[in-house]
Order: sequence, then structure tokens, then C-alpha cells
Amino acid sequence: MIITNEEGYPQALVDACQSDYELEPNEWRVTSLLKGPREAILERRHSHEITRDVSDMIWLLFGTSVHSLLERVPIGPLEFREERIKIPIGGYVLSGKFDSYDAGEKLLTDYKTCSVWQIINKRFDHWRQQLLIYAWMLEKIGFECNQARVMTLAKDHRRSLAKFEKGYPRKPGQAIPFTFSKKDFGDIEVWLIERFSEIARLEQLPDDQLPVCTPEERYNSGTKYAVMKKGKKRAVRLFDNAQAAQDHIAKGKGDFVEIRHGEDKKCMDYCVACEFCNYYKEKVEKHVQSA
Ligand code: SF4
Repeated sequence: MIITNEEGYPQALVDACQSDYELEPNEWRVTSLLKGPREAILERRHSHEITRDVSDMIWLLFGTSVHSLLERVPIGPLEFREERIKIPIGGYVLSGKFDSYDAGEKLLTDYKTCSVWQIINKRFDHWRQQLLIYAWMLEKIGFECNQARVMTLAKDHRRSLAKFEKGYPRKPGQAIPFTFSKKDFGDIEVWLIERFSEIARLEQLPDDQLPVCTPEERYNSGTKYAVMKKGKKRAVRLFDNAQAAQDHIAKGKGDFVEIRHGEDKKCMDYCVACEFCNYYKEKVEKHVQSA
């Protein structure tokens, strides 16, 4: 990846953004595997052409700095920290680096800087799957691991809201626990084998023929139909389909329907491979430019 510095930030920040780990040609990070296959393959295929500006990597640096701080803390007697595990699967190598594993408690801990909204909306599935894969990898090399937790560090937490808003996390740090059964390990093993065989097939395709990321992978929650009242800016109610919105109006609950098209938030703001993606160029880029 080419790191630019359009805002003239100190060189130390630019240097801190450089990754010091080079993947082998057939080595896949757990985090890459969890992305949509199109995004993951484009990112790997064009890794030496992709450009990012250091000003867009500040939150990434926050995450890295938290890990650097934790490296200074004394390690527990049965604890392993920041270890990379590699497990061969088919013609590939699955590569994962966990934050902390306590062999006494059989407990994996991962630290995540995140938005408070991720906690409020309980969007934990991705974290659970990532930790389940690390736990499966640990089991493969002989370490039992039947539980894990994500320690959240919510960077946009507001103490003032925590005092009064119902459902708002009381503190920016919160442990989200997960437990894993034998069935979970069996299921994730099947998923990993199938994912790598799908990748083997897709890697043969040119960029534009890779299957487009799903709405979920594009962080697109879909088009909404807002029932509105004349003179009011706020919707009376949001619906996933036009008929349900019209039915609501027929009951006298509103005056007209406003269509709110879902946005591909991942493509617009977070996908580093977007410049090599024809879906982005054809469907998303013009909206970004006109915004
Ligand atoms: S720009 Fe969107 S569709 Fe294209 S690879 Fe990235 S996330 Fe997927």
C-alpha cells in the first residue's frame, strides 16, 4: 500500500501507518477472509497500487496505539499475547494474530476501538466469528479455548448521554462475552474450508467478473419507504416496502411516501479497494462526488 500525506502530518504518523508484516502469496489473514470475497481479492491483488492518505487512517492508529500500550503491561503467568498462528487449509495458509489468550481460563480477549453505535445496536456477529476462528486455530495447535470476550473501547462515547439516555452504554469500555461449543468449532471448520475453495475459484476471475459484494457486505441497509406528514421533516414510520407504507397512509397515518435509497456505506467510506472495483465506479462514485 502506498501511504500519502496530503495534510502534511508529522512523518512519525506516516511511518506508524506502514505495516511491518508481509504476507506470503498463499497466506490469508482471518480479517481478510471475513470480508466480501470481491473486496478481499481486489485488496490483495492490488495491494501495491492501493493508495491511502494518513489523514484517513487516524482511527486505525488509535487501535494500534491501544495494542502498543497493552504490550507494556506485565503478562500473566499463563497468558500469551499478540501471537500469530498459521494453519494450512487446502492450498492456503490461514493466518491470525490474537491479542491475548489465557491458557488457565481458556479465554481469548480482543480489544476493539469502535463506535458506541456498534454496542447500542449489538452488532457483534462479526466479532464473534473472528474470535471463534482464533479459538478454532488455538484448538488446532493444542490449546483449549471455549470462551472469548471483546473489550470495547468506544471512541465516541459521551458521558452526558450515558447519564440520561435509555439503552446508552454506561461506560466506553464494556466486555462482550462469547462461548463456543464443539458444534461451533465443527461449523466454522466447514465454513473455512468452503471459503477457501470459493476463493480458489474466484481468484481465477478478472476484477470485473468477481461477484459484487452483498448489500450486507456493502453496509447497505436497503431502501426505506418513509411515511411523511405535510409540513413535518421527521417520518411517521419507516417501512422496507412501498406497499406497507401505502397501507399505513390508507389508515390515515400519513400524507405521502418519501423513498430513501440505501447507501453503500462500505464502498463510499471504508473500502480501500474501491478504485479497482467496477461496481464502485459505475454505481457509487458519482454519488460520492456529488455529495
Ligand atoms: S467498493 Fe463496494 S462492492 Fe466494491 S469491493 Fe469495495 S465493498 Fe465491495
